[in-house]
Amino acid sequence: MISTLDSLADKFISESAIDRVALIRLLSEADSIILQKLAKAAGEIKLREYGSGIFVRGLIEFTSYCKNDCIYCGLRRSNTKAERYRLSSEEILKCCELAHEKGFKTFVLQGGEDGFYSDSFLIPLISALKEKYPDTAITLSLGERPKDSYKRLFDAGADRYLLRHETIDSSHYAKLHPSEMTLASRVKALQNLKEIGYQVGTGFMVGSPYQTFENLADDILFIKDFKPAMIGIGPFIPHKDTPFKDFPSGSPELTVLIIAILRILLPKVLLPATTALNTLASSWRDKALISGANVLMPNISPFEARKKYSIYNDKVATGEEGGENLELLAKHLKPFGCVIDTGRGDSLMENYNQGAP
Ligand code: SF4
Repeated sequence: MISTLDSLADKFISESAIDRVALIRLLSEADSIILQKLAKAAGEIKLREYGSGIFVRGLIEFTSYCKNDCIYCGLRRSNTKAERYRLSSEEILKCCELAHEKGFKTFVLQGGEDGFYSDSFLIPLISALKEKYPDTAITLSLGERPKDSYKRLFDAGADRYLLRHETIDSSHYAKLHPSEMTLASRVKALQNLKEIGYQVGTGFMVGSPYQTFENLADDILFIKDFKPAMIGIGPFIPHKDTPFKDFPSGSPELTVLIIAILRILLPKVLLPATTALNTLASSWRDKALISGANVLMPNISPFEARKKYSIYNDKVATGEEGGENLELLAKHLKPFGCVIDTGRGDSLMENYNQGAP
């Protein structure tokens, strides 16, 4: 019988396993001492598995149009104040050229669900990128698409796909999304991506409206079973032009705690320190990087686009978040024992393309 939180944390670290009840307790009761203990263990696991390198991915936000209406997102279709833009193939290729010159070996193409970017637009673009930069990985983050579309993009050369599940509780999912969006459809899309062979990333916001500690525990256990190649965890940050504008931001402490927990549960997974964490304070991004995170996604979009891709308030996309400033980032991270790694940075997760949630 476990009596103290401290011994519960020790047991979790030594076994790399935890049940739902213990996980809820850890999430809801951990104080700064427990957080420190887990962060230290997670940092050591990251060093053992991946060394001191932090992989950098060049992020191109290529469209701010979206057909969806996720309640939390500044790009939702109902937000008439959102500034909309689309990048052409030439503009995207130019971003990648500049990023490749900087040393980036992963390009992340991210956007809203925008029907303008059909397979016939994306396939030649992906093929051209692969032909020009055969040493790079291409990550897509385009939301839900039919399985045959995912397959065509994979066959064209895409390597990875990011699609957060956001919450594995269907009633919570329904509070964050309009009725035409369902958790079942999201999970099916994740299964499809895995079956095709993508390195799949999933994840969720910490502190999203109506979220409970039970939800968080279930999200973590879902991810443990799903075995993604990557996990994106960031605090919820409200957007001023959405119905959630008055909800508070998620806790950065809890976000870092969850990053540490996930590193302990899945030692070989890729774990970004997300821009949302950096938006709250760069010290939280740094804390994440010494607590198990090992990926950063500097923005390499054209400057005019960066301000317009406003998914939450005050999202940072310049300074150390700008792909043009890798040297600045490297200098900042050095005292934390972190070294920028511009390699492809593939996931060490075994069987990341097998199994189903
Ligand atoms: S979260 Fe993604 S899918 Fe939802 S509205 Fe925003 S851009 Fe569109």
